[in-house]
Amino acid sequence: MSETPMNNEADAVAAPAVRFADFGLAPEIQRALADQGYVHPTPIQAQAIPVVLQGRDVMGAAQTGTGKTAGFSLPIIQLLLAHANSSMSPARHPVRALVLTPTRELAVQVADNVKAYAQHTPLRSTVVFGGMDMKPQTETLRKGVEIVIATPGRLLDHVEQKNISLAQVQMLVMDEADRMLDMGFLPDLQRIINLLPKKRQNLMFSATFSPEIKKLANSFLDQPVLIEVARSNATAEKVTQVVYKVDEEQKRDVVEFLIRQRALKQVIVFSNTKIGASRLSRHLEQCGIKASAIHGDKTQQERMAALEAFKKGEIEVLVATDVAARGLDISDLPCVINFDLPYNAEDYVHRIGRTGRAGASGDAISVYSDKDERLLADIEKLIKQTVQRGELSNFTPRARSRDRDGERAERGERRPRAGAPESGRGESGRGESGRGERGERPARSYGAGPVPRREKIDPWFLKPYEPSNAPRREATQAAAGTPAKPKQKLAALLGGLPKPQA
Ligand code: AMP
Repeated sequence: MSETPMNNEADAVAAPAVRFADFGLAPEIQRALADQGYVHPTPIQAQAIPVVLQGRDVMGAAQTGTGKTAGFSLPIIQLLLAHANSSMSPARHPVRALVLTPTRELAVQVADNVKAYAQHTPLRSTVVFGGMDMKPQTETLRKGVEIVIATPGRLLDHVEQKNISLAQVQMLVMDEADRMLDMGFLPDLQRIINLLPKKRQNLMFSATFSPEIKKLANSFLDQPVLIEVARSNATAEKVTQVVYKVDEEQKRDVVEFLIRQRALKQVIVFSNTKIGASRLSRHLEQCGIKASAIHGDKTQQERMAALEAFKKGEIEVLVATDVAARGLDISDLPCVINFDLPYNAEDYVHRIGRTGRAGASGDAISVYSDKDERLLADIEKLIKQTVQRGELSNFTPRARSRDRDGERAERGERRPRAGAPESGRGESGRGESGRGERGERPARSYGAGPVPRREKIDPWFLKPYEPSNAPRREATQAAAGTPAKPKQKLAALLGGLPKPQA
């Protein structure tokens, strides 16, 4: 988990002699690192920090959990120290470093890290993201701030309202660039890049390197130094994967059974849909398991509260959609469960990457039914291995008196929109596009049949379907279409990185 500093045993092996003290960082920064208890840099930090300090552009292959945030923020703070001052004048604190992230959760995590690392310096930093009142963000921005961490949409809102000028940005970071493209942020990114001075240092981090990512990198990076960490491969190898084939109706009971059987106390369960996540979480709670669901329809506060409770161990099971889980600083989990196999095989790799981090071993369990055979085949094709088929011993299916539609009607729900998957754009707080999670694959139908008469209404289940107010720009973008997610090769996904064309 994030609050536990990374196990640096593996890192110490990778770079035994390197210590933070070797980078020549300012004493204020070294003090902050000592406060955090960091001694050895992680591999990505060991590689990135000297290169960024030299002023070079960087293309980094790294996921959340590798320590990449300190890898870019420490040298940024070091380089900006030349401009640090205690003046009250906003003009003396122009935005000099901009960090773009796909989700508000990641933005908050990066901002927390930057604040901690810069705490003994006069440098100011702040975070802006959607789904929150703009006023407090505006006040902070107008006072002047050197480092801004932002989701693209909200940043542009502030630019439009002249709350922020990007004319003096000398360092740009694109964090989780692949996710930003997946979520349809390309037009926003291009608009932001056009607002920046031509001469600047650029750092791009991405877990995967699709042709689109390379195209983006070629268009804005200047002779980047390629930095990759081999750990993602090791991670995948350390994860024990197993799939259980079950009846669709039994999936919830099987997940409950597995959680109990394995006495799991900290597990993320992935659901493809918001309603599926809510329903599973509710089911687990009814069975006495401390569970909570997070998805795009939950407010920022609700998601943060669930995350905090999960990190503290007050919640044992976090049921999440891919969008909600994206960017969450949750790693090193002993186990993740796929309640649904993801529609996109790449998401499977991202999901199982939550476990088995930092050299530890982990379990990735999936349940699937007949209709998911093709999804499993896609995953196995991508990861180039056959996932072990497990046998459920001692599992006794519960008698079900109604079919799914009957159950749904009992709760007063409508038949969901086909698949009703989580929207990608809701995460930046700028409304939802109504597309699929990645927007490119048609959602599956839940099957035909008469909708039974409504009976009792449980308001809990109706809550997630409050309509969102999609802002105008969102609608325009939805109409323009999200760029289709390209097919990614396993080698690239797991760190076997092709050289970028200079
Ligand atoms: P990140 O990949 O940047 O999200 O970092 C993952 C976690 O590792 C964060 O909780 C950091 O606080 C922690 N971390 C980052 N660098 C180090 C380090 N050199 N030593 C120990 N922990 C670290």
